[in-house]
Amino acid sequence: MIKCSSCNTEVTNDYVKFKCPNCGKAVITRCLKCRKNAIPYTCPECGFTGP
Ligand SMILES: [Zn+2]
Ligand SMILES: [Zn+2]
Repeated sequence: MIKCSSCNTEVTNDYVKFKCPNCGKAVITRCLKCRKNAIPYTCPECGFTGP
């Protein structure tokens, strides 16, 4: 099960996945809703917060 890193909602196919720009270790997952609304995410590895 994949969860959005911003709103913690389970995502299925409408999401984006990218590595944390700060530490490059954690994979951030964001649903399209959060991406569209520019909800910030927090990296679970280093605590980096980004738009
Ligand atoms: Zn979300
Ligand atoms: Zn990180």
